[in-house]
Formats: sequence, structure tokens, C-alpha cells
Amino acid sequence: MADIQNNPPLAQEVDEKGNLPLVSVRNLSVHFPVGGGFLFGKKKTVKAVSDISLDIYPGETYGLVGESGCGKSTLANTMLGMITPTEGTVYFKGKDLFGVDKKTFTEMRRGMQMIFQDPYSSLNPRFDVLQIIGEPLKIRGGYTDEEIEARVLELLRLVGLSDKDLHRHPSDFSGGQRQRIGIARAIILNPDFLVCDEPVSALDVSVHAQILNLLMKLQKEIGMTYLFISHNLAVVKTICTHMTVMYLGKMMESGKTESIYKNPMHPYTQALLSAVLDIDVDNKKERTILKGDIPSPIDPPIGCRFCQRCPKAMEKCKYIQPETVEVEPGHFVACHLCSGERV
Ligand code: SF4
Repeated sequence: MADIQNNPPLAQEVDEKGNLPLVSVRNLSVHFPVGGGFLFGKKKTVKAVSDISLDIYPGETYGLVGESGCGKSTLANTMLGMITPTEGTVYFKGKDLFGVDKKTFTEMRRGMQMIFQDPYSSLNPRFDVLQIIGEPLKIRGGYTDEEIEARVLELLRLVGLSDKDLHRHPSDFSGGQRQRIGIARAIILNPDFLVCDEPVSALDVSVHAQILNLLMKLQKEIGMTYLFISHNLAVVKTICTHMTVMYLGKMMESGKTESIYKNPMHPYTQALLSAVLDIDVDNKKERTILKGDIPSPIDPPIGCRFCQRCPKAMEKCKYIQPETVEVEPGHFVACHLCSGERV
């Protein structure tokens, strides 16, 4: 069965401030061939991301949420040009990332960087801080050693570390301090767009707020735009202006974070939000416990991808993919319940 176009149409060319999107994803699909190995092995396809569209505007933090294995990181890596999409494309500052020549692609890539989830494995233990943070400038070329050192010292102060840390190694730092080093390395080329892939999930809870505050401070001071990938819906609510909820490679719901938290329409979003820790003991909300695991992206359901776990599934959900509907301005949902037809 051919995939239904399952993404929000271009709701608006410019945001409320008159800005064009910094990053636009259009009808993006990423499929990987697997198997087909020795002799009679049959080739299969992992449908990691299917037909996703979204717009990220300058200076905002855009949230991407969903369970592990839903395609968030594949989508983010494709947005950074690290994976070539099977269909669709990514526009950065209005240019098609996958349609430009190699030189322009390299220039565009410098404007888009990533903060990794695990600050323990993402820093080379043999390098000192100067080498780790200064490496992108060294690779780019055209800078003297003195210029690189001066820039690294400037960034160390910006991320809350000190000049004395310049020749220390990753093993001398705590997890939170290592993530500060990772952030300094990510911003040394002055990118406009930063993908934060679960940037605090590997850290102690006590340092979550410090790293999030640092990201917000950098956004304010140097006008950074973030894609923020997270499992933590409480954090997404606090820092993201817009968000997309993904399940098994597809967009389930997207729009302004405020609208989605106030009025979640998709049963999957409702289940995720019902699981957020409730501190209002007098008004306890009903929890929806999702049963089972995410199905394999090699063989996803032919109808709604969420149908095997959806507490509101109907017969037709097994066979017919829901179209995406705009339930209120800028708020999109892919569910038969929102298209008004029930069977
Ligand atoms: Fe549930 Fe059906 Fe809506 Fe999918 S389309 S979320 S299975 S009600």
C-alpha cells in the first residue's frame, strides 16, 4: 500500500515575527536495506523515518519526542546531512542541503552542529580540552595556534569552565563538565543550528538544570536555534516553542507546544503526557499505560502505525493510514478520530 501523504502542509511561510524557517524538512523518508546476505537471505527494508515535514524558525527550540527507536535520531542525523534521505529533503537557510555542490554542502554543514547524548564517549580521552574544542577550527584551517587557543579560552568562559581547564583531559571532569566541553566544541564554528540529542539523559539529575540553563543562556546570548530531542516531556514543555511527536518513524502530532500540552489530540500523545510525573496530588490525572513494544520498523502495520498499542483503535485503523488534519491553526494530528469518521 502506498504511503499516504502524512505531514503538515506548509502552514505558514513566515512566523509571527516575519522570519522564514531556518530549517525545513519536507516529506523526508529514510529507509535502510537490511539482510539479503548469504545465499538465500531475503532483502528487507527498515523504514526508520517516513514522510516527515517540519519547520524550525530562527531562535526557537523545537522539541522532538517519542520512545526509543521511533526514528528521532535518524531524522536529526539526516537533517545534519549525515544520512542521505530516501525521499524528500532538508532546506537550511532556504537551500536544499542535498541538492547543492560539495563545497556548498560543507559550508552549510558548518552552520549545523550536534551535542551528543553521552559526554563520556563523545570526547577523545587522549586529547586535552584545547585539542578537543579547537579541533573543528584546526580541520577548517586558516587559524594560527594562538588564535585557536584564544577562541577556546573564550568558549571555556562562556560555558562556565575556567582557563585552568585548558590542558586537562576528559577523565579530570564530571559528566556535567564534559557536556560543557561538548557544547563548546559544538559552537566553535559559530553554527546557527544545534541538534541537542538527549543532551542531559546520560547525566546525574542534579546537573540537568545546569546544562539546560546553559543552553538557554547561549540561545539568548548568541541567538542559537535548537532541535531538542528528548524523552523528558516536562523539559520539552518548559523550553520548546513547537514540537513533533513521532511514533515508528511517523509524525503523530505536531504544533505549538502550548497547544499540544493543553489539548493533546492523538492517543499516543495523550498516553505520553499521562505518564508525566504529577505533582498536583489533589488533581491526579488518569494514566494510560501503553501495552506491548513498538513494532519492528521492518514490518510496520499497514494502517495506523500506532494501531497495535492504541487504546482507542478501531477496525479501520488496522488497514487505513490516517491522514493528517489541522485541528486548530498550526496543530496537526494523524488519527482517524480527528478526521471525524468513526467506524
Ligand atoms: Fe488510534 Fe486509530 Fe487514531 Fe491510530 S488512527 S491513533 S489506531 S484511533
